[in-house]
Amino acid sequence: MITAGIDVGSTATKAVIFDGTIRSMAIVPTGWNPKEAGRSVFNEALTRAGLLEQDIERIIGTGYGRVSLSFIDKKVTEITCHAKGAKFLFPKTRTVIDIGGQDSKVIAIAEDGAVADFIMNDKCAAGTGRFLQVMTGVLDITLDELGRLASGTKPASINSMCTVFAESEIIGLLAQEVTKEAIASGIVQTIAQKMMSLTSRVPCLEEITFSGGVANNPEICAILSSAFGAKFNIPNRPQLVGALGAAIVGFETIK
Ligand code: ADP
Repeated sequence: MITAGIDVGSTATKAVIFDGTIRSMAIVPTGWNPKEAGRSVFNEALTRAGLLEQDIERIIGTGYGRVSLSFIDKKVTEITCHAKGAKFLFPKTRTVIDIGGQDSKVIAIAEDGAVADFIMNDKCAAGTGRFLQVMTGVLDITLDELGRLASGTKPASINSMCTVFAESEIIGLLAQEVTKEAIASGIVQTIAQKMMSLTSRVPCLEEITFSGGVANNPEICAILSSAFGAKFNIPNRPQLVGALGAAIVGFETIK
């Protein structure tokens, strides 16, 4: 029994082939054509697994672009998929924090693994990967450098959560010769504050599992982990948690 999960995100499209364990995975940029990205990531994952499309018994699509996939068997929300994927990787997960390209969410998981509650920030870029991308653009650094610079430095105060206003604030801080390290640290603190404010609205129980592309950044993970002060699991490939969960949903329906 082999299934596939395809997660068409705002920034990246991910696929996982699953047979009870992760058989292969792939990530491609979503670009302007989510339909093509979904097809291409699926083909790449099939090739890596040494399989053909007809070997896959069920294909589940998730992510904002799932509607554009015509070759899948079923569409499932990212909330369900991130919860499933996180629970598979870390069975004691009770909260998932997902920070992706254009939204961030907190998902509360009941003891039996069902989604108990969730809250999502998808109306603005604050507290998302997009926010970080804009800020690294102003500082002329990469996302990886942002984490490294932020690590262990006293944060500059950035008062605005709004991406547009925060960008102006950072330009002002650079003009006052505040160091890039302090600004980077302030930017990461802003993300931590945004996530803390989301978690004040849903129960946030241990263990917490961090998913989504921003969790690729070890320094950001460390800062969030200490802000939350709870057991904080970081998957090896955090961006793939949603696609993994989608493949597991498919697996469970034919078990
Ligand atoms: P989506 O599903 O919305 O496409 P993903 O979960 O795939 O989002 O994550 C994409 C986001 O992850 C991008 O906005 C990017 O800024 C962020 N990201 C990727 N790698 C890193 C990194 N090393 N540090 C910080 N952010 C990162």
